Amino acid sequence: MSISLSCIFCKSHEASSLAHIVPESLGGKNAPTGRPGVTCDSCNQYFGQKVESKALQSFPFSAYRMMRGIPSKKGRSVRMDTELGQLEASITPGVIKLEPQNDQLKAFVGQGRISQFHLIAEVSEPLAVARMLLKIGLEQLGKNFYNVAVSDRMSEARDFARRPGRGDHWWFILRTEPREILANVQDNTSIEIIEQEDVLVSVMRLPGITTFVPLEKRALPPAEKSLSAPEFRIIRATC
Ligand SMILES: [Zn+2]
Repeated sequence: MSISLSCIFCKSHEASSLAHIVPESLGGKNAPTGRPGVTCDSCNQYFGQKVESKALQSFPFSAYRMMRGIPSKKGRSVRMDTELGQLEASITPGVIKLEPQNDQLKAFVGQGRISQFHLIAEVSEPLAVARMLLKIGLEQLGKNFYNVAVSDRMSEARDFARRPGRGDHWWFILRTEPREILANVQDNTSIEIIEQEDVLVSVMRLPGITTFVPLEKRALPPAEKSLSAPEFRIIRATC
């Protein structure tokens, strides 16, 4: 028996049958898929082009993909411009190529005088990342609790993911542990929806990165000092 559901985002198109909830560019090939899908093709395409591409090219996901050697969906390796020149991921996790910016740097590298990189760990695209996390969370919710995902309870999260208005804001918590990113562990990507003080929260776990995003706007971020920074940070996204 096949059941056709309407898309949890636009509610007007029929959802496609299969979709990766966690983007493949985050190693989501082995991650759970939505079956039956809860997102239509056109919303999927919109999120892919307007939200995910930006989010996946920014910290922490860019660094994650570079360090773990995960190519883009089109098979391109991740590149990042730095003061030293362009960094490019290789297929070996943890091995990164550097194209030095000038001859002086080239000589330094040749002499082994540059052996360390410091990647700036600022979330440069908080809005795109927040929207992507909401999209992922709503899809996961829709997979098991479709009726909740399409209900009015989720309308603020849905609107923020789809088209946030000027001045709209959201927040999420990011935990990064660089050593875990580099550790040679399986891509045990997981996504789960938990309920905390009556608020649904989506928790995504990748090796070395965990994100917590509330799916309801009334949730207030925890007190800054209750988090053990810099491992945990509250990231605010404003449109
Ligand atoms: Zn749709």
